[in-house]
Amino acid sequence: MLQDKDRIFTNLYGMHDRTLAGAKQRGHWDGTAGIIKNGREWIIEQMKASGLRGRGGAGFPTGLKWSFMPKESDGRPAYLVINADESEPGTCKDREIMRHDPHTLIEGALIASFAMNANTCYIYLRGEYIREREALQAAIDECYDAGLLGKNAAKSGWDFDLFLHHGAGAYICGEETALLESLEGKKGMPRMKPPFPAGAGLYGCPTTVNNVESIAVVPTILRRGPEWFAGFGRPNNSGTKLFGISGHVNNPCVVEEAMSISFEELIDKHCGGIRGGWDNLKAVIPGGSSVPCVRGENMRDAIMDFDYLRGELGSGLGTAAVIVMDKQTDIIKAIWRLAKFYKHESCGQCTPCREGTGWMMRVMDRLMRGEAEVEEIDMLWDVTKQVEGHTICALGDAAAWPIQGLIRNFRDEIEDRIRVNKQGKASIAAE
Ligand code: SF4
Repeated sequence: MLQDKDRIFTNLYGMHDRTLAGAKQRGHWDGTAGIIKNGREWIIEQMKASGLRGRGGAGFPTGLKWSFMPKESDGRPAYLVINADESEPGTCKDREIMRHDPHTLIEGALIASFAMNANTCYIYLRGEYIREREALQAAIDECYDAGLLGKNAAKSGWDFDLFLHHGAGAYICGEETALLESLEGKKGMPRMKPPFPAGAGLYGCPTTVNNVESIAVVPTILRRGPEWFAGFGRPNNSGTKLFGISGHVNNPCVVEEAMSISFEELIDKHCGGIRGGWDNLKAVIPGGSSVPCVRGENMRDAIMDFDYLRGELGSGLGTAAVIVMDKQTDIIKAIWRLAKFYKHESCGQCTPCREGTGWMMRVMDRLMRGEAEVEEIDMLWDVTKQVEGHTICALGDAAAWPIQGLIRNFRDEIEDRIRVNKQGKASIAAE
């Protein structure tokens, strides 16, 4: 289990002072100018050596992503944009950083922006996060007053402005190019890629979009050294990580743990076990609603990192939003609800997603009631395959994968329900 001395987020639960004075007492904003004076190359190399992979879901190496930004400006400004549009069902980790430990994020924004030659950074915040906006804005104001932001920020010699932008509550704005469109004042619709944001992002300028947690861990990594961070977890899956565990555990929580912790340890140590005991575990969605679910018996020994969950279980770590379902769960109804969510959130720009999400939701609606033919399960599978990989952004995949996970793991249950319905027995009432 991760020891307290190795925690990056020292006020995750809001038990301590979240003001600048409190953050400084806990070691934040310590030697920030000295870190910056080591130069861009040094910072990017340290980040690469730490092995940090993006915490927003895709798991792309953060240092490598930063290195895609132009070394010299061609006259255009560069931007860092922090994705705080945390809207994936089950995901609630960045919220804790912003409302309780905001200085980790602000200090990280300064250092990361410097490393990418950006004098300006925007934090794009989820529309529903009102209290988080207030806490974060108060922290930003404190930093301006203390000279940590603005001209010669933190006496580093770097001029730096940080702006908070509040979204309007559309899930698709968490997709990085839709986020940039929205930030520019347009409808939040994903862009075709290429060009990628590092070439032409916000206002057509070089831009990097990073997740809140990815940026908030930067100052501590640079203070304690990349070897320290890389010392947690398995190779290629290093560091500490915020896990958000919800659903049928005795104590749902958000907790910082070492990567590659086993699922069993995570649940027993931090969540007080599964509701009704381990034999009552039915299924787990290990990484936010868009990754496929896994049968409970396959999860107990699972290693909670990117490579194991994808390679061994055909699922993913995603945002590490772990959704636990016990045997009292109607898993078909649970996945139908996700299908309804994705249908609602599709921006409608590309046909497979716009039509496919609605089609999948309607079939799921009938499967949930058992009012379908068994052959339709295969038809539904085929449709998910036609949506997956054929859309502008990853929402198409996100809509297809939960259904694929359901069919792969719980086909017997779907068929049973159809059979029960045909035999005239009661079917599950729709919501
Ligand atoms: Fe919009 Fe869906 Fe296409 Fe993404 S996949 S651009 S959400 S229609």
